[in-house]
Amino acid sequence: MNHIASTLLLKCPKCSKGDLFSYKGMFRYTHMLDMPENCPHCGQKYCIEPGFWLGALWTSYPIVILTELPFLIGALVSKTISPFWFFGGMVLAFVFVYPVMLRLGRSIWIHINIRKLQ
Ligand SMILES: [Zn+2]
Repeated sequence: MNHIASTLLLKCPKCSKGDLFSYKGMFRYTHMLDMPENCPHCGQKYCIEPGFWLGALWTSYPIVILTELPFLIGALVSKTISPFWFFGGMVLAFVFVYPVMLRLGRSIWIHINIRKLQ
């Protein structure tokens, strides 16, 4: 499994076999950030230093921007639809994307920082 597939499937960055999160699935609205301390397959520690996951804010931010930008552009460009409908769309889209933003953001962050075996 290559590094990108491992990132998108939320797998361990080192072995690509162990799951990053205790509960599988990108769209999980409960226990979103429950992670084992180490990879169940290779033993790689996931939180490699205190505050490590704060860096995931930087990798989740573009996911939010990509989600919200169409609504913002729509609100600015549209002359017939009220901006409040676009604002409502932004809120709904954010709620929908929230678990993806958190989980994929962490997966991208850990895959940037931990090298794959071989
Ligand atoms: Zn592993």
